[in-house]
Amino acid sequence: TIGSLGAFYYVAQKDKTPGVQLPHDPEKKTLVVLGSGWGATSLLKSLDTTDYNVIVISPKNYFLFTPLLPSVAVGTLNPRSIIQPTRYVTRHKTRQVSVIEASATEVDPIAKTVKFADTSEIQGEVAETSIKYDYLVFAVGAEVQTFGIPGVKEHSCFMKELEDAEKMQRRFLDCLESAAFPGQSQDEVNRLLHMVVVGGGPTGVEVSGEIHDFLEEDLRSWYPELANSVRITLVEALPSVLPMFSKQLIDYTESTFKEAKIDILTKTMVKEIKEKSVVLQRPDKSIVEVPCGLVIWAAGNKLRKVTQDLMARLPQAQTNRRGVAVDAHLRMEGTDSIWAIGDCAATSYAPTAQVASQQGAYLARILAQIAKRDNLEVRLKTLQDGPQTEETKPEIASIERQLVKTEKLRPFHYSHQGSLAYIGSDKAIADLPFFNGNLATGGVATFLFWRSAYLSTLFSLRNRTLVATDWIKVKLFGRDVSR
Ligand code: NAD
Repeated sequence: TIGSLGAFYYVAQKDKTPGVQLPHDPEKKTLVVLGSGWGATSLLKSLDTTDYNVIVISPKNYFLFTPLLPSVAVGTLNPRSIIQPTRYVTRHKTRQVSVIEASATEVDPIAKTVKFADTSEIQGEVAETSIKYDYLVFAVGAEVQTFGIPGVKEHSCFMKELEDAEKMQRRFLDCLESAAFPGQSQDEVNRLLHMVVVGGGPTGVEVSGEIHDFLEEDLRSWYPELANSVRITLVEALPSVLPMFSKQLIDYTESTFKEAKIDILTKTMVKEIKEKSVVLQRPDKSIVEVPCGLVIWAAGNKLRKVTQDLMARLPQAQTNRRGVAVDAHLRMEGTDSIWAIGDCAATSYAPTAQVASQQGAYLARILAQIAKRDNLEVRLKTLQDGPQTEETKPEIASIERQLVKTEKLRPFHYSHQGSLAYIGSDKAIADLPFFNGNLATGGVATFLFWRSAYLSTLFSLRNRTLVATDWIKVKLFGRDVSR
């Protein structure tokens, strides 16, 4: 035990201590990275910064491990356990990386500039400026799609950013405490304790499962008089939940939810959200107004304005409405120096964390190859501009041969490792590619697999330790119900 603790301490200390870094070099090209999500963070992890001055611009100065966000919303995990400061990723890089907390507001692909603004509450004298780039990685992600449905922004909680999960946790406990207020009628208790989740994609299913766990594992003991009045309803416009999973796992999820008393309303569309109710269109097109205390909006994402504006500047090349059109090397169509990765890019795969992280790692390799090519070109030009001697001629020929090699870039290939989702009651589902076939599993063993898969996907030892500790804490002491 002492040996393991010693090894753990050693690795943690090594992880914590920043390395000695090279300063920015005016001779090197400027690589601007917009974003700090899955795509950008995976790129930064793998990127060799020797040949670039790297500048990261993102409204959040951290990476958020989004698959565990629903666990934060019910207090299974501490919010701080699933975020990692971007500087934590960049501090071991060969050359210093600048991290700027700001929102990119405009990209000019002709002048090669990015305009960005400080979005924090406390601002200094300068709150907006622009920067020139040689290469740009556009990894700004997406934002919540509301379809212009009335009341969504005002009366529901999203499940996209850390503050959304924190807001949901506060509102959920608020509903419980208001329901516990003396003299509340049973109708009002029922309304306050009716939780409606909109969207039967993985986010909506995971949130519903987590609320159920909170109810069964903690609320039954803390609020025994209220627990039986809590109701969870999952609303989905399509004929089934989780369309990306196999039929067998959809059925498994539906029967698990049935046992857990989570109502699934399919072919049902939310038409409006009011302060104390949701307006639903049922499969027979009838409209019903259902009283509720909390609505969680997990109905999908759309492109950000900065992405739409950038695409509009290249109307000939950018005609895909789903996102930035890219070539086989993830380079934005119509440009020679912008790459788009993650949820803002239109590819033939669903926009998942897995796709974004593979794209980021791929782009790191491409940028290393491009740096090599740029260095060779500079060397070639110096040799060609200088006096041609017997020694320089073979070197020129050798560089020309190497240049031909660097021109050949391997296209991006997505390797699908499977889909995983937590469905509550200590059960998860997994669709895994398996010996040229597919392995669809669900249950408690899959849940343990889900936990270990997520633990190992977490980017740092620090986050792995924090998440594992939170899981142990909840097992021992339950979730915290204080607000
Ligand atoms: P999603 O787009 O997958 O699902 C949203 C659902 O909301 C859709 O099924 C849609 O039909 C429904 N919907 C939209 N408007 C509605 C309305 N007015 N009324 C009722 N239903 C409505 O969204 P998501 O779950 O946030 O996922 C986003 C992306 O992230 C997807 O690509 C998903 O695969 C991925 N993701 C994966 C995981 C995982 O693998 N565990 C977890 C979270 C997200």
